[in-house]
Amino acid sequence: MAVTVHEIQAKSILRKSKKIDSWFITCYGMNLYRGCAHNCVYCDGRAEKYNVDGEFGRDIVVKVNALEILKREIDPVRKRVPLKKCFILLGGGVCDAYQPLEVKYELTRRTLELFAAYNYPVHILTKSTLIKRDADVIEKINSKTRALVSISFSTVDRKISSIFEPNVPCPQERLETLAYFKSRGIACGMFYMPVIPLVSDARDQMGQVMARAAELNLDYVIFGGMSLKHGRQMDYFLDVLRQHYPQHAAAYGKLYPGSQWGQAVSSYYNKLNQQFYDVLKQYKTSPRIPLHLFNTILGQKELVIVVLDHLDYILRLQGKPSSYGYTAYSISKLKEPLQEIIEKGTLKSIRGFGDFTEKIIREIMSTKKCGYLSSLLNC
Ligand code: SF4
Repeated sequence: MAVTVHEIQAKSILRKSKKIDSWFITCYGMNLYRGCAHNCVYCDGRAEKYNVDGEFGRDIVVKVNALEILKREIDPVRKRVPLKKCFILLGGGVCDAYQPLEVKYELTRRTLELFAAYNYPVHILTKSTLIKRDADVIEKINSKTRALVSISFSTVDRKISSIFEPNVPCPQERLETLAYFKSRGIACGMFYMPVIPLVSDARDQMGQVMARAAELNLDYVIFGGMSLKHGRQMDYFLDVLRQHYPQHAAAYGKLYPGSQWGQAVSSYYNKLNQQFYDVLKQYKTSPRIPLHLFNTILGQKELVIVVLDHLDYILRLQGKPSSYGYTAYSISKLKEPLQEIIEKGTLKSIRGFGDFTEKIIREIMSTKKCGYLSSLLNC
């Protein structure tokens, strides 16, 4: 598909989040491009909320001065407040860092070279096999700090992928790309999302995906259902769905009644997560990025937040109640260093904290490990 390229001068590149993202282990992301020629039918970037001008899969904005701006934003010598210790995410948002224009512009490659020079750990998420071009830089980052390579899948079925992900390499090629990086000693995982309701969400389809992940001995599989915001995203998706799966179109109206974030009804997600957990139990793959891959990267507060978020996720996946997510959020709001609060003995005065939670936090802070999380992941 021909694309129209719009070269622009960006004012800023690095996007900072207030609370560390426990899915990606990052506080920083960026879009070197806006719009994505991969043109996945379900892409969230198409929604009005993200203000991507023009036609999403055809009009691609290239931030041609990205490196110059980024250098200013991350240079440790120029920054009064250093960046938080975490991975910097390349991917997600409103573009794929390895969409076809990257062959010409090399913004992602040059960004990786910059991170390598400044010793920043990087997490890359893509659907493209073009990432193999940059294996040398990724290996360099990994030898200095750490690099994570994640590739996303909504299915491993070639036909379904060709309908909903028309311009990306087929699932088999993506799996081979993961194998390529695994064989080079890079930690790799799958972002198994979005699973497409009624199209790629059946139990046997999930089993096929998890079996492929297990064959490759992936370090993690992060699972998620699909969101669909009313407006451009939903209209585009339903047009394609009606062409290929007309029998399912009516059900989508009930599944996606129109929430602000495009969420499906909670009963659907609950059933989907339960099914994922049942399949997951047959394999040893971690449903979260494992602690040993980031416990030497994160600062103390971020490490505690991520571990508590991961506890929350696993407990809920197992159908158990949890307030660890709330606790993690409360910690993210603290102004004082966690160590000082613990030393003053005031941690338990914060809502959501009990003896067991304090014990977990102390263990994470002193050992960078969490026995409770390990025990949950092993059951
Ligand atoms: S690769 Fe990612 S950003 Fe690009 S269209 Fe697909 S879902 Fe959207």
